[in-house]
Amino acid sequence: MAFGCLGFIGAPLGGAAFALRVPHASVGSRPRCAQRRSSRARGLCMEATASVPEAAVSGSSVSRDARASAHSASTAAEIKEITARPGWHVHKFGGTSLATPERIESVARLMHSQIREGRKLFVVLSAVGGVTNKLVAMVDQAARRDKDSHFLEGIEDLRDQHESFAERLLDEDAREAFLATFNADLRDIRDVLRAIWIARTSSERLRELVMGYGELWSTQLVWGTLRSAKYDCKCSWMDARDVLLLRDDDESRRSSRRLINWEGSSQNLKSWLDNHPTSVVLATGFIARMPDGVSSTLGRNGSDHSATCFASMLRAAVCEIWTDVDGVYSADPRQVPDARLIDSLSYKEASELAYFGAKVLHPDCMSPLVNDSIPLRIRNSYNPEGLGTLVREDRLLSDAEVKVTDRSVGVKGFSIMNDVALINVEGAGMIGVPGIAGRMFNALFEANVSCIFISQASSEYSICCGVSGSAVQVAKNAIQRAFRFELEERIISAVTIVPDVSILALVGENMQRIPGVASRLFQSLSNVGISAIAMAQGSSERNLSVVVRGIDAKRALQAAHSSFYLSRLPIAVGIIGPGLVGGVLLLQIQEQADQLAREFGVQLQVHGITTSSKMLLSAATDVEGINLSKWKSDFEDAAGPSNMDRFVEHLKQRSPHVVLCDCTASEVVSGFYENWLSQGLNIVTPNKKANSSSMQQYKNLRRAQLAGNHSHFFYEANVGAGLPVISTMRDLLRTGDKFLEIEGIFSGTLSYIFNEFDGSRPFSEIVGLAKEQGYTEPDPRDDLSGMDVARKVCILAREIGLEVELDQVPVKSLVPDELAGSDVSIATFMERLPEFDGNLAQMASEAAQKQERLRYVGVIDAVNKKCRVELRTYPETHPFGALKGSDNIVLFRTVRYDAQPLTIRGPGAGAAVTAAGVFGDVLRLAAYLGAPSAADL
Ligand code: ADP
Ligand code: ASP
Ligand code: MG
Repeated sequence: MAFGCLGFIGAPLGGAAFALRVPHASVGSRPRCAQRRSSRARGLCMEATASVPEAAVSGSSVSRDARASAHSASTAAEIKEITARPGWHVHKFGGTSLATPERIESVARLMHSQIREGRKLFVVLSAVGGVTNKLVAMVDQAARRDKDSHFLEGIEDLRDQHESFAERLLDEDAREAFLATFNADLRDIRDVLRAIWIARTSSERLRELVMGYGELWSTQLVWGTLRSAKYDCKCSWMDARDVLLLRDDDESRRSSRRLINWEGSSQNLKSWLDNHPTSVVLATGFIARMPDGVSSTLGRNGSDHSATCFASMLRAAVCEIWTDVDGVYSADPRQVPDARLIDSLSYKEASELAYFGAKVLHPDCMSPLVNDSIPLRIRNSYNPEGLGTLVREDRLLSDAEVKVTDRSVGVKGFSIMNDVALINVEGAGMIGVPGIAGRMFNALFEANVSCIFISQASSEYSICCGVSGSAVQVAKNAIQRAFRFELEERIISAVTIVPDVSILALVGENMQRIPGVASRLFQSLSNVGISAIAMAQGSSERNLSVVVRGIDAKRALQAAHSSFYLSRLPIAVGIIGPGLVGGVLLLQIQEQADQLAREFGVQLQVHGITTSSKMLLSAATDVEGINLSKWKSDFEDAAGPSNMDRFVEHLKQRSPHVVLCDCTASEVVSGFYENWLSQGLNIVTPNKKANSSSMQQYKNLRRAQLAGNHSHFFYEANVGAGLPVISTMRDLLRTGDKFLEIEGIFSGTLSYIFNEFDGSRPFSEIVGLAKEQGYTEPDPRDDLSGMDVARKVCILAREIGLEVELDQVPVKSLVPDELAGSDVSIATFMERLPEFDGNLAQMASEAAQKQERLRYVGVIDAVNKKCRVELRTYPETHPFGALKGSDNIVLFRTVRYDAQPLTIRGPGAGAAVTAAGVFGDVLRLAAYLGAPSAADL
């Protein structure tokens, strides 16, 4: 069978599907807001401390790096032992290690040092980087008769490239010999391409023939280099087509993979070695021969496979694959820059990762090594000092290891397979009918379509399988033909295609032993609003695969990867309004970023800063976002015109997790919230406009959060700046408490004014003082009108479930009617305010006689569902009466905190504490998105 169907297990499709991937090969808390809790000169205080569950804060600070290097120590010992083993050492250099003459020089140096140590070396070589692609392109150009590019140009390009390599690397005699064969090869290629051009078509065989020349040339170049006077090594080169034989029987024709004729190849190898008694062989990767003598290949990227085939036939001590990265990473480093280098993998884990798209290894290259347990190393030819990744027999963790280690243990890495399509066969008539699945897969098999993924709903109402995007139409037709009768009789209602999907595979030998892996994977996808179209888990539980839309694949990979702490949780931050609060927030992020990354696994990256007129976006090369140490000058020099759509789009491109920090007080910006939330973007803001607009709008925002797959909207700094007012309320409500009354001094300005004003000096004088000291808005009437307090009251009332409109809140304005009009200038207002001092002076002195103080408060009567903003008097001993400076204070009277209300007091205004409130919300968001608490690291 082309697809080894194993049977079905698991859970239902589309959230409820279950499945098995068809195996292809035989090997088969919350982070604490440090700012908010930090003690300040006049820090906040919470009396009658509520038992509010707060973040797990301290704990182990074992860094990932420390853990990784501890792990490496045992692998290092293993590697030392392996490299000292006698016998053949097989090395394979990929095109990335042979891309320039300098790279070939370093390969020669590497091999030369090994030869000097007396090793028996069998070196398998790919084509010079990019050459195979050029050869393939020439075949296509010839077959299509491309107007823009002619295959003859390709030939000249290859000639120039290889001649210059030969010039740089080879001694004169060797160069002449190389160029003679090379030019003969080019003539042959030209003749073949001309035939293709005439026929306007190319057979697979001709394509394979042309494709394989690159390895012949690169191997001769490296051979010549090693034999040059500089290295003077005794070595032989092997055309692997003289040794490696492919099968061409029924089984191999049915298989989508190249099958080796082991017996024939081993005999060939033995005679070749008998005829070439040498301890250094340079062999072409990739190419092999069909039984009829025609040249063929092991498929794209197949040199890895060539190397392990030779390693197996030689019973080699080790096989080392040299490439351009330090080893196998927990995800493609081009997609996840923060991916971790994997220390060691089992053969099966490596196969799964490769099969699902980790290009660093050919998926078939592990199987030849398994029988003799030949270790495989993946190393970086640009960094030969690195230990790389060691692939060898399975090592199941002991129970103790599973218990003591963190949640990423057992999960080795992720791969993405793109360009997949799903075929769904569904119909109520299928229930209980035996053999449907078998017939479906047989139809695919007959059509020579290989099935990547199978899943069946538990109801048997539908069967779904994944095939390569290019084969989907053939597959659909084959299935429709096979079920013509059932379709006519409506036993099967439809055969449908879901195009352009990707499979995200999570791989790890020990995953089965770690509870909750699947739920964590799904949670991470849901956090970024991606739904799984189907899922499959192999019976080994070594692989958990999820099908997502192709356009979501990269975001899904990044979100899933970071949720297992294989990389830090990247959050793309957009700052809207880098004024006073926004500016301090940027400074706070800059100061904390390293610690957050190190200790909490959160990577805050500011990728955009915008005002209403200009915006600065991070450059494509700024993986970590805008350089915050010089954002101001960059903003001055490089900011372009602002455009909110582009701003948001840019952030979405940079991370699956986006937070927009609106540090303005603008209604224009809050007007975007509904749209942003419904797109799954998160918002954090001190801007009160959205929450105090109409009740309808307020509800729309909450609905948008649901539509955006539970996007987050945090606004702690709406009330009391950085004081934990709203978060405390939420915790009380969630833990089942009920509010009776909320009473508070919510304006820093009015707090200051009334703390200073005791009747001994005129009210207008105190207002003037407050204005001078920068405590008021530019127009003090904005504070004295009480509207700001009313907005906060409205927001708190809504938080506990009251339906309140701002204009229904009675507000005692301290602005005399005569001075309220917009035609009265600020200067006139300040000048005429003393005319109205009398009334307040009298109220203050009456209060003073009773040892009481006047206070401007907001009150929410939760029992009677009434709100107001007014002047009240409080005894000097009352927490409100004794308030100092510009502090805010709020009393929560609840069922639990009735006799003695819960009090929150502290600085409730100013850029630093407001920014800290916003920052705290960003970290709260990180926790919701899955950032680890310290104990997990
Ligand atoms: P070579 O020419 O040496 O065979 P390849 O280009 O075939 O090199 O494979 C190496 C590349 O594989 C790396 O440069 C990297 O971009 C890509 N890659 C994809 N997934 C992974 C992964 N999980 N770990 C390491 N590299 C990966
Ligand atoms: N040169 C071949 C290719 O590019 C084989 C290989 O590099 O492994 O596919
Ligand atoms: Mg490769």
